[in-house]
Amino acid sequence: VIEIDNVHLSLGQGRARVHILKGLSLKIGRGEAVGLVGPSGSGKSTLLMTMAGLERPDSGTISINGKSLNAMNEDTLAQFRGANIGIVFQSFHLIPTMTALENVAVPLELAGVADAETRAAQELRNVGLGERLSHYPAQLSGGEQQRVALARALAPNPAILVADEPTGNLDETTGATIMDLLFALKRERGSTLVLVTHDLVLAARCDRQIRLRSGNLDVATASEKADA
Ligand code: ATP
Ligand code: MG
Repeated sequence: VIEIDNVHLSLGQGRARVHILKGLSLKIGRGEAVGLVGPSGSGKSTLLMTMAGLERPDSGTISINGKSLNAMNEDTLAQFRGANIGIVFQSFHLIPTMTALENVAVPLELAGVADAETRAAQELRNVGLGERLSHYPAQLSGGEQQRVALARALAPNPAILVADEPTGNLDETTGATIMDLLFALKRERGSTLVLVTHDLVLAARCDRQIRLRSGNLDVATASEKADA
């Protein structure tokens, strides 16, 4: 479902410009859960953003469900991303001036979904927040905010869910609950999951682990990929 072929990507301007992804190739199958691990600075977040079409590669190709992201203009890409890829960040990224319900409903409305509010309320009930629809992010605990972010990511029923250290800002117990929820929702919907984590136990819950090192696959993983 996700095919990345020989992707190079640099970010930053002038002397701060860094060559981050260095000819990385990777295939992830439909419904697969992949744990993306590797040292800090190895390019995990950058790879995730590139997969999600939030960064454009300097060279190389990315395709999702057989559609090349390279060929899409910004509008098409944004629309494609909205329909196909749910994204969850470490720092939740909720809109502070919107209630929990609005945070989930507004993106659905913008995507032209009918009954956006009803669907959003249902998604929030699915993550256990049926009693918190009118709360603003500041009135919610970290775990609750991440539940809202999860509901928002899953609301369009995306084929792919990408999560960048989604429990990094949560205490251990809350993080574990969020992870159980994430895996349960993933299974329920048959979504593909790419999970960046520093937690090797969490990564081991995924079908496959991919280790990055200096912007490319770590050698051990590269040989595993050749077998896949
Ligand atoms: P961590 O585990 O600490 O989150 P990571 O594997 O997610 O690390 P990335 O955030 O992908 O690493 O960053 C990879 C490298 O690219 C780092 O060395 C970082 O300094 C550099 N980098 C990331 N974003 C930019 C940017 N916008 N401009 C310049 N350099 C960047
Ligand atoms: Mg990161």
